[in-house]
Amino acid sequence: MLLRIQPDESLRSFVERNLFLQRHTHSVEIFGAPEFRYRRWGNKQVITIAKLLGWDNCYGFNKLLHSHTDYTVHGVFKAKDGHSYSANEFGLGFFCFDDFSKTRSYCPMCAKEDLCVRGYSYWRRNHPLVVVCAKHNVDLLSKCPFCGKPFSVHGHSLDVIWSGCAGRSLGDAKPRANEDSEALHLAQFFVKLNLLQHHLSAETAFNVLKNKLTEIIEDDNFNLISKGRRARLTFHYEDLRDPRAFRFFVDRSQVHQLLYLIASIYGNESPLIS
Ligand SMILES: [Zn+2]
Ligand SMILES: [Zn+2]
Repeated sequence: MLLRIQPDESLRSFVERNLFLQRHTHSVEIFGAPEFRYRRWGNKQVITIAKLLGWDNCYGFNKLLHSHTDYTVHGVFKAKDGHSYSANEFGLGFFCFDDFSKTRSYCPMCAKEDLCVRGYSYWRRNHPLVVVCAKHNVDLLSKCPFCGKPFSVHGHSLDVIWSGCAGRSLGDAKPRANEDSEALHLAQFFVKLNLLQHHLSAETAFNVLKNKLTEIIEDDNFNLISKGRRARLTFHYEDLRDPRAFRFFVDRSQVHQLLYLIASIYGNESPLIS
């Protein structure tokens, strides 16, 4: 029998946890297939997992993406002419939903809490731009705190979160407090985005941002935290005035700019998602 997938557990964590605990059982045989050894996972792996969980068809595929991958940032912001959550990913599959050639990261405090609460931890889905834990405000660790290896094909396998490194548990790493408030806001924003039940109009988000930026930059009393931040906001403002900017922001490869912008303007108080 398959293990229960945990809330916000990444798909590769789910597969590797099943293999780690019950490698030779029939129920996880399919996870031994070559396609699950690939570094880059596309729609094929996601569809297979969705079927195993009983979440057939495109709805199940989307549900898995929304709850267990970082695809949320693409699924949630929608242009007027495209309301489908995953566009043509279910049928054609261009997107890479997990790339094991890149390291993943974890929060040592979450790992420690997991051990107390459920007896084990797991790898959470995360966006590569998120570098701090939204819950504990500590830096996420993208290298093993004991030997320095990354958590990727170039270092530790994902098993290290269950087996430990040379007898030490990843939850024993000393947490380092985050001092970058924008990094925290971005992490908190990503969490909120993942909880959304409806998509957001990218056009509306874009216009709200444009107005808010104008308001901020024209407000003499606005107390900017630093000169550098002001320069960045001004840079974004100039971008938004360019009619090509909208296409730029909703382009998949650039959507992270939109995330940064929202996080830097609204911080933890984003009205777009309250
Ligand atoms: Zn944490
Ligand atoms: Zn290690």
